[in-house]
Amino acid sequence: MPVLVMKFGGTSVATLDRIRRAAKRVGVEVSKGYDVIVIVSAMSGKTNELVGWVNETSPLYDAREYDAVVSSGENVTAGLMALTLQEMDVPARSWQGWQVPVKTTSAHSAARIEDIPPENIMAKFGEGMRVAVVAGFQGVSPEGRITTLGRGGSDTTAVAFAAAFKAERCDIYTDVDGVYTTDPRMCDKARKIDKIAFEEMLELASLGAKVLQTRSVELAMRYKVKLRVLSSFEEQSDDAGTLVCDEDEIMESNVVSGIAYSRDEAKMTLVSVADRPGIAAAIFGPLSDAGINVDMIIQNISEDGRTDMTFSCPTEQVARAQKAMDEAKSAGEINFQDLVADTNVSKVSAVGIGMRSQSGVAAKMFKTLSDEGINIKVIATSEIKISVLIDRKYMELAVQALHDAFELDKAT
Ligand code: ADP
Ligand code: ASP
Ligand code: MG
Repeated sequence: MPVLVMKFGGTSVATLDRIRRAAKRVGVEVSKGYDVIVIVSAMSGKTNELVGWVNETSPLYDAREYDAVVSSGENVTAGLMALTLQEMDVPARSWQGWQVPVKTTSAHSAARIEDIPPENIMAKFGEGMRVAVVAGFQGVSPEGRITTLGRGGSDTTAVAFAAAFKAERCDIYTDVDGVYTTDPRMCDKARKIDKIAFEEMLELASLGAKVLQTRSVELAMRYKVKLRVLSSFEEQSDDAGTLVCDEDEIMESNVVSGIAYSRDEAKMTLVSVADRPGIAAAIFGPLSDAGINVDMIIQNISEDGRTDMTFSCPTEQVARAQKAMDEAKSAGEINFQDLVADTNVSKVSAVGIGMRSQSGVAAKMFKTLSDEGINIKVIATSEIKISVLIDRKYMELAVQALHDAFELDKAT
């Protein structure tokens, strides 16, 4: 029988009532003749609570135990979903990551899925099970320890299952009815997009649009998974939501297709480092070893052989970045006068495939921000995106002003 993957995010399984509502939707697909793999998140807020408990217990925690704790939210919803389906006379059972098994790397708290052997679940489908409810976000390392896939990782679980089981479609049910031109909670004028290219979605996700985890989009692109984002709260037609697809399936799109933001960024400046060959490697090597996600980098003009080096990273990684730099300094690998952390900045980005062929997007973006009196601290560009770092207090204003400037409320 054809297989369908249906993923329900935290708000969609936040209460027993909502689990029932989601289960009904699964029941509809089962009655159409699909074998369904349901991927569930933890109840909304649960993972944050678990992360909080870990941090309170042990600030520089052992990541293996972090995963043991933080993965548990999904075990609860998987069991409850299976029970709910059974109550509706749908043959279902729950699977934790290790039972499938979802084989991952041992990079605890940020593991990558390496393989999902389909045999165990397929055998159960063969015996009459119609729904496999899989706990999202978790897997098992080669050492046999529980791993997690990074925040928002259930999306990635869903796409990986869709690829492994050659599913007809991977439906991501969430609390908005699709992918919008920007976060609809940040901008009233945000418009739902019917179809978005993998590459654009990948940029939007990696620049902060948390509607899909970045890795899930990467996998969907690589394995050609038919990926759809839709609301678990509204009645659905067959063409509901947003389809994430190949660029050539989209007839027309705006030059800029979306605005993304990442609220909690930090701008770190190493003051007065020696401007010599190898200095960048000496700085960014240790940062990378410490697992810091360095994003933007600028090296300032040098004077008398010394320069300032600025980089950005998520605010939550500032302490670890400082530690890595202090250690490199003590070891004599680098020398700097000071490390200044500005933790009150956010990143705002404009994304669009159309930028490849049309110039002037950067100029328009800078002019728009300047008209609002917003100072740009760092700029980064790639073929299909422009990002700026600005003071956090202007973030919302910047998103709305850019959305207006690029007329994203209007369809092409
Ligand atoms: P889930 O718990 O279902 O995984 P998430 O909270 O992870 O849901 O993701 C959905 C949220 O993503 C929405 O509530 C919305 O606020 C946010 N979001 C950010 N950018 C966008 C965008 N461009 N389009 C739609 N939603 C977005
Ligand atoms: N529950 C996990 C989180 O909140 C994974 C997910 O929901 O995708 O990050
Ligand atoms: Mg999510």
